[in-house]
Amino acid sequence: MSLDYSSLADVKQEHPIFLTDVSPTDKPWDEHKQQAETVVSMLQGIDDDYIQSIRHRMQLCAPWLVFAHTKPDERAKTFKLHKAEFCRVRACPICQWRRSMLYISKLMKAVPGILERYPSMRLIHLVLTVKNCHITELRDTIKEMNTAWKRLSQKKKFKKAVKGWVRSTEVSRNPETGEAHPHFHVMLFVPGYYFDSPEYYITHASWLEYWKDALRANYEPSIHIKAFRKNRGLENLVHEIAKYSTKPSDLTADADWLVAFLYQVRKLRFFATGGIVREVLGEIEKEYEDLIHTGNEETKDSEILAQSLFNWNIPINKYQHSKTVKNPNIPEIETPKKETSP
Ligand SMILES: [Zn+2]
Repeated sequence: MSLDYSSLADVKQEHPIFLTDVSPTDKPWDEHKQQAETVVSMLQGIDDDYIQSIRHRMQLCAPWLVFAHTKPDERAKTFKLHKAEFCRVRACPICQWRRSMLYISKLMKAVPGILERYPSMRLIHLVLTVKNCHITELRDTIKEMNTAWKRLSQKKKFKKAVKGWVRSTEVSRNPETGEAHPHFHVMLFVPGYYFDSPEYYITHASWLEYWKDALRANYEPSIHIKAFRKNRGLENLVHEIAKYSTKPSDLTADADWLVAFLYQVRKLRFFATGGIVREVLGEIEKEYEDLIHTGNEETKDSEILAQSLFNWNIPINKYQHSKTVKNPNIPEIETPKKETSP
């Protein structure tokens, strides 16, 4: 669909025009902002400074969006996010979604390059779990898992077989018991001969034993392993690794759980890299991240034909078109100022 920014700019709008009318593929904006609003409303009235600071930040997450209209780029895209402000709260459904897209893009750029440099390399998806814990034990549990991962990855057999890895932490909520289920998704890079040589190959039973030992666990933790042929299925694997760290529906299931969760994950890191992945990418998770372009090139001012401003319409739960300004008037579009803190 080609977007007619001229009509957006010229016509006096008698009916509201929504972001999804202009660009149906931008529907996730409405969904994630709605989820963020649900989280904000769940935190309302909770007498706690930290929780209120989070609520306030999330309330100011992406209240408006500026999109740029451009000539078709190499992917034939003509409509791109150009300006926005994000709260960067770990549990914010909008920021989680943007971060996930950014990490997927980083990995989809880096991994094929690594596989080209090391053509015999194969990928394995390893899922490592621990037994569910009470939400108030989540922080300690994740810390124990991180320590266990360190032990596992320093094991001789591991170092011999695994040349690089990306590890993400996901936390889900058991709907029946309300317990937290933290687990690791790991993408492992192993050389092709790993599968043919008992000297290198690590069986399911051995992985299980190593993980159990590393955890110092007195129970059998459950693990899953899946090997990939070359980079077939790479995109699915990358999505598994870089998807949200906690499903929005888990975050909004129960207010007490949500409050406890926010405290438990405060300042924890959820991504780590090692070996050849670390050499190429460094750490994936950064202090400041570009959640606007999420891995795509920034649009140059000279490429912009027009800009459109959309504001979040609270009763309707959609981003609504506010105005479109054609070039050369770019500097004239002013985004609404932030409200001051109450
Ligand atoms: Zn946010």
